[in-house]
Amino acid sequence: MIDSKQFINTRHKNQKINYDNVLKELVKEWKKQELRPKLLIHSCCAPCSTYVLEYLSEISDVTIFFSNSNIHPKEEYIKRMLVQKDFIEEFNKRNNANIGFIADEYAPSKFIKAVKGFENEREGGERCHICYEMRLDSAANKAQELGFDYFASALTLSPKKNAQVINESGYVLQEKIEVFYLPSDFKKNNGYRRSIEMCEDYNIYRQCYCGCVFAAADQGIDMKDVNKNAKEFNRNHKDFENFKSLLKTGGNII
Ligand code: SF4
Ligand code: SF4
Repeated sequence: MIDSKQFINTRHKNQKINYDNVLKELVKEWKKQELRPKLLIHSCCAPCSTYVLEYLSEISDVTIFFSNSNIHPKEEYIKRMLVQKDFIEEFNKRNNANIGFIADEYAPSKFIKAVKGFENEREGGERCHICYEMRLDSAANKAQELGFDYFASALTLSPKKNAQVINESGYVLQEKIEVFYLPSDFKKNNGYRRSIEMCEDYNIYRQCYCGCVFAAADQGIDMKDVNKNAKEFNRNHKDFENFKSLLKTGGNII
């Protein structure tokens, strides 16, 4: 497989890197060499994965990895996981695709420990950088364990997430394992706009806060309400019982 780092090394040191262009160079090379790589893409809920799947499933074999111990409360975590699964199933059906779905274990104490001392940072600050890294790290390790060619995150689709920080973290992790990092800035090329269209088309739930209890408190979100709505959604979902059993261990869903 091809290491995309080579496309970055040709750039000037002080130049801000356009990671969308780096991905394009990598894809060009896959096509030239007739490669169809296996990708493990971290996603925190369905919206960001929409356009990412549309873009990448044409040229690679994609599996979505749900690893988000930052999400609070547990009912909301289960809801986002169920919504993600429903979207992938529908996407596969409509596009005759074969996207896989793997869940990580749900370990909220791991997140709380990781961001200790940074709880009061504003959204987008150091707490979020730690949070991106925690999830990318899990994706990198899972990709290595299961023999994927690349790992990445759909997070770069969100305009609220710092794509520079996410990509830099990805390359740091790449140095520690045998799997390559897949660079991205999925919001480019109208990716973000397309994700909104796809959310409407697939009737996808879009959450009102990023995920952690700190961001929710900052935004004045009523957690009781979030919990109540999520609980109601989950109890009415046919796969709720199966998903509950996966919280401690993680595992293959699709
Ligand atoms: S960044 Fe936000 S919208 Fe995108 S997948 Fe994560 S929680 Fe969902
Ligand atoms: S605001 Fe979002 S990215 Fe930042 S720490 Fe909370 S869950 Fe993570």
